Amino acid sequence: WRRLSSGLKRTSSSLGTAVADLVTKRKLDRAMLEDIEDVLLRADLGTEVAARISAAVGHGRYDKAISADDVKSVVATEVETVLAPVAKPLEIDGAQKPFVILVVGVNGSGKTTTIGKLAAKFSGEGRKVMLAAGDTFRAAAIEQLKIWGERTKSPVIAGAQGSDSASLAFNAITAAREQKLDVLLIDTAGRLQNKAELMNELEKVVRVIKKVDASAPHAVLLVLDATVGQNALSQVEAFHRTAGVTGLVMTKLDGTARGGILVALAEKHKLPVHFIGVGEGIDDLAPFTALDFAKAIAG
Ligand code: GDP
Repeated sequence: WRRLSSGLKRTSSSLGTAVADLVTKRKLDRAMLEDIEDVLLRADLGTEVAARISAAVGHGRYDKAISADDVKSVVATEVETVLAPVAKPLEIDGAQKPFVILVVGVNGSGKTTTIGKLAAKFSGEGRKVMLAAGDTFRAAAIEQLKIWGERTKSPVIAGAQGSDSASLAFNAITAAREQKLDVLLIDTAGRLQNKAELMNELEKVVRVIKKVDASAPHAVLLVLDATVGQNALSQVEAFHRTAGVTGLVMTKLDGTARGGILVALAEKHKLPVHFIGVGEGIDDLAPFTALDFAKAIAG
């Protein structure tokens, strides 16, 4: 909780300060509600949620004095209501050997780092983990994944830069199966020559994975960078269409005042949110819980 609230400090303090500035020595009126709605929009909560919160703040309070804490408590309640249905842990089905997790997202969103953090978490739980360096487009991505492999003592399956990522995924599942490993985390490219090519490649990776195991991938995690704000919404659409996203991980919540984007995403796409990234370190991955996040955002 401490890591979460300090991670979300930039979102909560900018929202909290703005709310406190608004409500000082004023009675609640329409103009104040509009100002509150603006503050919520600036924190990237999205138009629907911002309108709903400002209506809830106004309910029964017109012409009365209102405190910043009153507003924050309504924000926390409304945000929790939106987030509660999507806050779901990532469940590893132990019957699958390996449980195959495909990790997708645009370049720089934090895929490789998240894979490293997940590998540390799963091996800490006593599971045997393998990593597949499926972002064969970037040499740096392959190197970075190998470092995470060493750090977490997990074997890494990697090919040369430019090699076929679908056959790499195929080889990785086959190897993980032979070795009876518990979890296989597959990295993917986040940028190729263009978006159509990227999506075609992802489709191919999924198709080839299914040839080895028709029930796989058992989870498709989309990693989203919170600092891109509303842009995250269209990333969800594109990746969901191509790869059938089963859950989200939102990274870099420590470096942004736009943490509210998670609320807009939950409202619009209703996809499960499993984890949030609150730093670059191996332990900076927190399970996503609605109440804690709502309290942290409201400040
Ligand atoms: P990829 O291209 O999607 O694989 O992204 P990377 O895993 O290489 O991450 C891109 C950059 O974001 C790296 O410098 C990471 O250290 C950084 N990063 C990843 N997750 C987080 C996070 O939760 N918080 C912060 N502050 N940085 C992060």
